[in-house]
Amino acid sequence: MRLLRDSGIPIFYQGEHFDEFNPQGYFEAPQIMAACMNGSADKVLDSLDGLTFKMPLPHHLEKLPANGREFFVIWMDRYPMESAISLRKLNFARGAKFQPDPETLAANIERVRARALEYLTATPAFHILRVPQSELDSHVPAMIAHLRPVSETLSHPLPTAREMLSNFGSAAHRFARAGFATTSPKALATREATCRACPEWDAAALNATGRCRKCGCSTWAKLRMATESCPIGKWKAVSAAPEATRKPE
Ligand code: SF4
Repeated sequence: MRLLRDSGIPIFYQGEHFDEFNPQGYFEAPQIMAACMNGSADKVLDSLDGLTFKMPLPHHLEKLPANGREFFVIWMDRYPMESAISLRKLNFARGAKFQPDPETLAANIERVRARALEYLTATPAFHILRVPQSELDSHVPAMIAHLRPVSETLSHPLPTAREMLSNFGSAAHRFARAGFATTSPKALATREATCRACPEWDAAALNATGRCRKCGCSTWAKLRMATESCPIGKWKAVSAAPEATRKPE
């Protein structure tokens, strides 16, 4: 989800929360999951037209009512045993006293996924792109292309998906080369204030996390990468050196 958001795809999620199990943050949408289970998904979907959201539990997909809608799905293929081990670890860390053994859990996961995939494949409203989780990075261009109809519903003129992807690819490369250096709180506050006052900043975009119309990037991500700079020179990249030795922006 982070990759998609930073590539300019409009994402819906209900607050990005962080905890010790996932310091990168979660992109869940509990409101949609609950609506799938209590039969109110039709109403909730009306307010999500054009947005991409994450459905972590495959059986929820079967509860998404089409009613004239189309769903562009990125289906993440993952080894069931890998999912089972990861799920058990997370649940135990969160205090679960008992869980099925990994083999049983993996078999359950495989069964539920197979049923959901069968449903999606047989339902014309769903357009599926299958992606192996282990090769996610190399499938980003295909994922962006698959979700392009979603991006096109945006009302503001933006760089093309190819340009945004290129912008994101360059930013990610610089960020990685700098050892994933993040912006200091002080510099972040300055950058944020500058963007908020800028006419190129779209505060409502990307689920109200903001987007720079000039480069099409998520400002949430861009501001936090120390190596990034404003495309029209309003703020500059900062070095990865400790706060005390950084030059002011
Ligand atoms: S990055 Fe620069 S151009 Fe984009 S919104 Fe911020 S200040 Fe404006």
